[in-house]
Amino acid sequence: VPEGHSIRIHAKEFASRFGGEKVTLWSPQGRFAEGAALLDGQVLTKADAKGKHLFLGFDNRRWLHVHLGLYGKWAFGPAPAPAPVGQVRVRIESADSYADLRGATACEVMTRPEVRDTMARLGPDPLRRDGDRDEFVRRVRARRRSIAELLMDQAVVAGVGNVYRAEVLHRARLSPDVVGSALDEGTAGALWDDLSVLLRDGVRRGSIVTTVPADRPPGSRGARPPRAAAHYVYRRAGEPCRICGTPVATRVVAARNLFWCPTCQAGG
Ligand SMILES: [Zn+2]
Repeated sequence: VPEGHSIRIHAKEFASRFGGEKVTLWSPQGRFAEGAALLDGQVLTKADAKGKHLFLGFDNRRWLHVHLGLYGKWAFGPAPAPAPVGQVRVRIESADSYADLRGATACEVMTRPEVRDTMARLGPDPLRRDGDRDEFVRRVRARRRSIAELLMDQAVVAGVGNVYRAEVLHRARLSPDVVGSALDEGTAGALWDDLSVLLRDGVRRGSIVTTVPADRPPGSRGARPPRAAAHYVYRRAGEPCRICGTPVATRVVAARNLFWCPTCQAGG
């Protein structure tokens, strides 16, 4: 599942390619034909993201809401657009650009109140100006589930996925099993602060890098480390922890593989 930084990048991409442009919007595959008809020929006025949700606003006060889910993908390119290939749910075209959506979990037309409701159901997003650190701390500390579960709960924090979950917990040297209600305000707030740093860095890079150069193997300490050196624990099960050498552990938590170091992350 793309994490919040990817969706923020998509919103920026839509703003720069289609912002203020009258667009042709249709459903080559046909599954979204009715929705597309409501947006076709309108000017795209706003591109916004909260967590893993993308919202495109049009000048007839309708919005396109997209959640990519596990398999969804946007593809962008310059005009003229080629003939659609495969199951293209939505194609958006301007004089200069096109964007194709495939395989999304949610693709629907919304009114402004529906957009507001959808956003209100999500927890604070560290990438948004209205992202509320105190609200995150309050939501974490009000719950008795483990922090590894809470970080995957989009009603606690919006935009964090499996990579950021594992990495932020390792960077904090925090056990994934600590329950939210056992965390003090400082520890919970520090998780928010680090997520803000990591997500913003992800938007800038277009990829997730959580390791600091000194913790990477020699030869991987440049500004653009290879994928194998980019993370502390994510997808490194059985490999030595970069800090202490203990083999990285894994198990399923909240339906996804969690990775952690049993030595560095023993407490909290
Ligand atoms: Zn370790």
